[in-house]
Amino acid sequence: MLMSNTPSLENYWMPFTANRQFKAAPRLLAAAKGMYYTDVDGAQVLDGTAGLWCVNAGHGRQKIADAVARQLMTMDYAPSFQMGHPIVFDFAQKLAARAPGGQEAGLTKVFFTGSGSESVDTALKIAIAYQRSIGQGTRTRVIGRERGYHGVGFGGISVGGLVNNRRVFPLLPGVDHLRHTHDAVRNSFVKGLPEHGGDLAEDLERLVALHGAETIAAVIVEPVAGSTGVLLPPKGYLERLRAISKKHGILLIFDEVITGFGRLGTPFAVDYFGVVPDLVTTAKGLTNGALPMGAVFASEAVYEAMMNGPESQIELFHGYTYSGHPAACAAGLATLEVYEEEGLLTRAADVADHWQDAMHGLKGLPNIVDIRTIGLVAGIELSSRPDAAGARGYDIFVDCFNKGLLVRVTGDTIALSPPLIVEREQIDIMASMLGEAIKRAA
Ligand code: PMP
Repeated sequence: MLMSNTPSLENYWMPFTANRQFKAAPRLLAAAKGMYYTDVDGAQVLDGTAGLWCVNAGHGRQKIADAVARQLMTMDYAPSFQMGHPIVFDFAQKLAARAPGGQEAGLTKVFFTGSGSESVDTALKIAIAYQRSIGQGTRTRVIGRERGYHGVGFGGISVGGLVNNRRVFPLLPGVDHLRHTHDAVRNSFVKGLPEHGGDLAEDLERLVALHGAETIAAVIVEPVAGSTGVLLPPKGYLERLRAISKKHGILLIFDEVITGFGRLGTPFAVDYFGVVPDLVTTAKGLTNGALPMGAVFASEAVYEAMMNGPESQIELFHGYTYSGHPAACAAGLATLEVYEEEGLLTRAADVADHWQDAMHGLKGLPNIVDIRTIGLVAGIELSSRPDAAGARGYDIFVDCFNKGLLVRVTGDTIALSPPLIVEREQIDIMASMLGEAIKRAA
């Protein structure tokens, strides 16, 4: 046994973590089952975040573990270039049969990646390559949005809108951004989609006027921005973005890394909003977080152009060693079965009202300036302490953890996104534990 229960904390360089601060007071998770983690001291922690928005069917699913183990012993790995294996074709076919927007949306071509970040960079590259293949090689510009999060590849941070993730790195040239749609004054405490801000989609017209449509390959947005504070699209916004992008020959990419696989109470956000983009990026819930994997759904039109367009290159010169990894495919296939056997892709819709009531029940507690929910996601926004933005949120996150509830924090917004198996009583427990922590922080 190489594993130790009390490892030294010296060598692991932690991602997105203030390493020194963490190592002074670590939080170490050792086991997980259903809705709960267990930490190294044996304390139970209710999972309010499905890990990192990924463990949609809850932890420790036997069916997924068995499928992975079986596949690893049958064939652990196979090269993914110039050859394949049946399970990757099978998984692509099963995903296509359940593609965002149903069969009529035509998002039935599947490219596998190893993560959300890779899915984003893949989609951006497909969009640019597609434009070239139809003879639109001047379209290399991509448009993102302020407060967008699209992972940490150079493409993703370029179209993303988080200053800390961007500022010390060189970025893709030619990228521009739509304004974000968040308006915590006019839309605060609104239940359902925000009334105000749909017209912000007109920013795309403004950028077309500024740069010329013939320079723009694609626009990418999260239908619901998760990591940057649970920002819901205002009414009509996504529809308008679709209409404007189509009018100008610009591909529309929905980043569904968080919203995919049932988070909103529909299989995808495409289904929730009834707006069909050209490319959809996914990861996380694709394998229930059990193994790293992402996938890009591309429209048949995009795929056909890549194969047969006037300037198509026959192949997309892009792919990963682990594209369609056999064990990840096995995890994904088993995950789809679990989702379907238990109705999890629509479960969030059944409890969304209860969830909304529980979260909005926190209104009136100290320092809360907005509460936003959709499906099984919530963002509880707190006012920032004048001396230290983010400190209030961080303190609440730590306090919740110490009391046995895992939440996410981004700035001073607490984000919740429990596994889709969450029971109503557990929702009430989450709301009450979070409420107590908010009171203590005041
Ligand atoms: N896109 C979105 C919308 C995300 O929320 C995330 C991760 N939270 C990513 C991309 C990046 O995914 P990963 O961390 O798997 O690279």
